[in-house]
Amino acid sequence: MNAEGVITMLHGAGGTVMHDLVKNYIVKYFSGFSGAEIPLEALDDAAVIGDIVLKSDSHAVKPIFFPGGDIGRLAVSGTVNDIAVLGAEPYALACGFILEEGLTLSDFERILASMRQTCQEAGVGIITGDTKVVEKGSLGGCVINVSGIGKRTEALEKNLNVVKRFRSDFKARWILDSNLKPGDKIVLSGTIGDHGLAVLSAQEGLSFGSGIKSDVKPLNRLIQRLLGEVGGITAMKDPTRGGLADALNEFSEKSNVGILIYEDKIPMRNDVRAACEMLGLDPLEVGNEGKIVMGVVKEKAEEFLELLRTTDEGKEAEIIGEATKEFTGVAMQTVVGGKRIIPRPVGDPVPRIC
Ligand code: MG
Repeated sequence: MNAEGVITMLHGAGGTVMHDLVKNYIVKYFSGFSGAEIPLEALDDAAVIGDIVLKSDSHAVKPIFFPGGDIGRLAVSGTVNDIAVLGAEPYALACGFILEEGLTLSDFERILASMRQTCQEAGVGIITGDTKVVEKGSLGGCVINVSGIGKRTEALEKNLNVVKRFRSDFKARWILDSNLKPGDKIVLSGTIGDHGLAVLSAQEGLSFGSGIKSDVKPLNRLIQRLLGEVGGITAMKDPTRGGLADALNEFSEKSNVGILIYEDKIPMRNDVRAACEMLGLDPLEVGNEGKIVMGVVKEKAEEFLELLRTTDEGKEAEIIGEATKEFTGVAMQTVVGGKRIIPRPVGDPVPRIC
């Protein structure tokens, strides 16, 4: 079947195919709005207008309940985290439901209770929204959009001042993908691949996933602590669709630096590693929903890692590499010796993970 000229599942999978769709179609029509400090075309995790961070994120995960989470927890966490990685604190959310005919009210209520719980963890509220219903089809129960706004905090100002102490030419007002400089250490907050494999196991009814749970959670409180108590963060992303490989390539491209990572430093559960090997998946390309990857000025990296490891979300954190001017793109020093190029993935190997 010739799929040219129509939307395919790859267009939503967070890799090169999706990036091309966003750039060649969406940005083409919506770019150039002069009011935004960080505009649409920056394609960062969220946009900035005045001192307000703005983000909208739709969630179409299949199935709507999976080990370690559900679509409601994912929808709140996804938007909260995209606002938080710019250094802002989310403070209000809007929620749009598209419900499929046949969804049980008990499942809907389970999702709502999960959203309320996640909002409480994040310290945000849903204050407006919308509900629509569509005929039975392929939604798999429901689709949820959560949009939100965030504001600057004292912790963000503190962090920017710490960076300026070591880098006098640092002018950024937010934590952006484009802020990385050669020498910055790359810090990863914990194990990769958990979310994608948990969803895949639920999609396929595979038994490998018995112990693997999604890491989905809001990270704004952790991020504010890191910014305020140690600081030194220059760039930050949540490595969701397309995984760590896509996030690092975003950093590299937008900051115009090379990134070298060390395979033996990348935290991964043994069952995730084994499942990826069995299924032929590259764990670097599998999505996460409760992790952050950051550039940190090298003078602060050790102190930063120490604090991160005292937290529940960051106890398995590692410095996994550094930014360099030696080459462009992303490369990995492998455990068997030698370097492997880490390209931007074509798309996340697991469909509909978020
Ligand atoms: Mg993001």
